Order: sequence, then structure tokens, then C-alpha cells
Amino acid sequence: MTTLRHLATGILREAGWSLEPPPLLWSPRLTRCAGLFVVEKDRRGTWHPEIRLSIPLLRRRDRPWPVAVCGCWCRDPEAVVRRILEHELIHHKLWWEGASDWGHTETFRRLAWEAFGHQSITHGIGSEN
Ligand SMILES: [Zn+2]
Repeated sequence: MTTLRHLATGILREAGWSLEPPPLLWSPRLTRCAGLFVVEKDRRGTWHPEIRLSIPLLRRRDRPWPVAVCGCWCRDPEAVVRRILEHELIHHKLWWEGASDWGHTETFRRLAWEAFGHQSITHGIGSEN
């Protein structure tokens, strides 16, 4: 069983990015998007990045396979998780490098295409975008 952390570490390494993944967690409540990158400030003022993945959306196997995720065809839930994770890790990389905007900027689109071949920038699966 490949853990999310292993998967994320592998994705970052293959992209040639020398940073550690942030904490990753499966969320049973996340339903409006498959993945989410969040940064929250604690009481001491320290920022904590985190990637959340949707259990309801990413564990589903009853899809009309293949489905498009980030503009790439995915044939099973594992492939979908990988694509969503790639997307969220780009947010993390931009934030970690100190970008003032770590959203879907031109830089984000370029990285998504160059590192992973993503042709669309979304947080959804198939037509759920
Ligand atoms: Zn995004």
C-alpha cells in the first residue's frame, strides 16, 4: 500500500523539485472539490500548509472510465489521486517559494504543463468541474 506521503514525495522527486510534501490528509467532508491546498495560521502566527483529499470523490470506483482530470485521461482511482496530488503540490511549491499568489497563475499553468503535462487547471474530476 503506497501511502499518500510516498506518492507525493515521488511526484516531487520526479518533477525535480527539492521540497518536502506538506501534511496530507484524507477528508470525509471535502465534497466540493477532489483536492485542496490550504494554509492556516496558528495562534503563534506560524503558517501551516496542508493538502486535503476528498474521500467521497477519490474513492469512487463507479465512474464512466476513463475520466479526465487536469486534462489527462485517468483509468482508475489511483491515477485520479495522482493527478489531483500533482495539482495540489504545484500550489504547495509556489507557496513554499514565497509566491504572493499561489493560485492558478501563468506560472502555475506553465509548471503544470512542463512538469506533469496537465492541459487543464481544475480541482474536479471529469464533468464535475
Ligand atoms: Zn488549484
